[in-house]
Amino acid sequence: MTVAETPYVIAIVGAGPSGIYAAEALIQQAEVPLEIVVIDRLPVPFGLVRYGVAPDHESIRSIRNTLERTLERPEVRFYGDVSIGSDLKIEELRDVVDAVIYAYGAGSDRRLGIEGEDLRGSIAAPEFVAWYCGHPDVHPDLEQPGGDGHLVATDIDELISTASQAVVVGVGNVALDVARVLIKSAPELIETDMPDDVLESHGHKGIREVHILGRRGPAYTSFTTKELRELGQLPDVDVVMAVDDLDLDESSRAVVARDKVAARNVAVMREWADRKPTGAGKRIYLHFWTRPTRILGSARVAAVQVERTAINTDGYVVGVGDTRDIPAQLVVRAVGYRGRPLAGVPYDESTGRVPHAEGRVIRDHSFAADEYVTGWIKRGPTGVIGTNKSDAVETVTSLLADIHDGAVVAHGRSGDLDRLLAERGISPLGMPAWHRIDAAEIELGRSRGRRRTTLAHRQELLAAAEDDHQPA
Ligand code: NAP
Repeated sequence: MTVAETPYVIAIVGAGPSGIYAAEALIQQAEVPLEIVVIDRLPVPFGLVRYGVAPDHESIRSIRNTLERTLERPEVRFYGDVSIGSDLKIEELRDVVDAVIYAYGAGSDRRLGIEGEDLRGSIAAPEFVAWYCGHPDVHPDLEQPGGDGHLVATDIDELISTASQAVVVGVGNVALDVARVLIKSAPELIETDMPDDVLESHGHKGIREVHILGRRGPAYTSFTTKELRELGQLPDVDVVMAVDDLDLDESSRAVVARDKVAARNVAVMREWADRKPTGAGKRIYLHFWTRPTRILGSARVAAVQVERTAINTDGYVVGVGDTRDIPAQLVVRAVGYRGRPLAGVPYDESTGRVPHAEGRVIRDHSFAADEYVTGWIKRGPTGVIGTNKSDAVETVTSLLADIHDGAVVAHGRSGDLDRLLAERGISPLGMPAWHRIDAAEIELGRSRGRRRTTLAHRQELLAAAEDDHQPA
């Protein structure tokens, strides 16, 4: 079957790495004429590259430059500040384009399911990460208080300034990011692009001890070794762990024998266990075979009750009854992200994902002719940013095959989306607006003697996006 000469209009919902890699995969072929619109509810693109990668990981954050080049391509348009699901319903979007690729990530957190989880001072890592990265959801405009039960920047400021001990639950890369940011001093963070008020909060925080809890042994972490090593190189911080935790049982030895990353991680931790504390002012404790059973406190978290664990013969983590309390005024639950449902899009509650096969969305037990999915909302919150590239290629390969097979038809819809948005009085922010925001952040940073300062409030972003904006 030959493809149509009129362009196929493809909408991508989500301008994070997964959505932008999907746009990149689409433009890497010339056979099918395409118009690609990458839509985001936020005024700025880049998703987790801006709002998830830790601000002190500048080299990973610089992936933004590559993503930006894709959004600048003539076949691609970025439509920021357009919320699919509220500004436009999914059905309305599907009506005005030829195919949609969902790439809206996994914006929620997994729960521990233990008593005390909702005490003041117990927070989900995605919220803490969104705070230090300057996400507008956690930095509401001044006239618009949180109100919906979610934490806002002022709450986190108060929590970290009144805590001296913190517990981070989970042994993945997010736990490392959170522990590192919690323990670093404001002068160590000044080189980052954190918003001014976040940096200020780090200036008066009192955290001296961070306890990281792994419910299984050191062979079962999901750290990448580079990030793990970084923890042991922080100035004025001793990393402390029990030598006994490094006695590997049979199943741990089998993991280390087959998994190079696990072997390298265990080797790094062995070096730490052998080190004598230097008398540094701050400490990070790594506790393995330890799971939280209760978060204790009345008005506010005061301690975490933990229990020693083992893996039973069926491979499950079980408590072995030996409990103790770790004093802490802050608990950050870094036990993974979870996809949220988006009104009108199929969603599997048991996995927190959009059901699909090779990126083709399954709706009512069959493939929808025009719906595709990629990124965390497709495969779950796993992998590094680059993983989204191969994931997007799989989805786009399915979409292009369906175009060639005639399952996706070009309806000559160029301009239909713009007309609908105009009718609704919605003016998307494009790349010129992003460049104005970018320039304003760099200028604001310079005025503070910093490389850049993230604008965290939506109103600040919108003001900076305006044509006549003069950087402060
Ligand atoms: P993750 O890698 O899935 O780690 C989650 C951790 O939480 C695991 O250690 C898990 O232990 C633990 N956990 C889950 N449920 C638990 C419970 N009920 N009680 C105690 N512990 C529990 O998730 P993540 O750290 O949120 O990271 C998400 C993804 O982003 C990962 O692919 C990560 O590599 C990536 N990321 C990468 C970077 C980077 O490259 N620098 C930075 C940040 C994030 P079990 O293994 O026992 O389930």
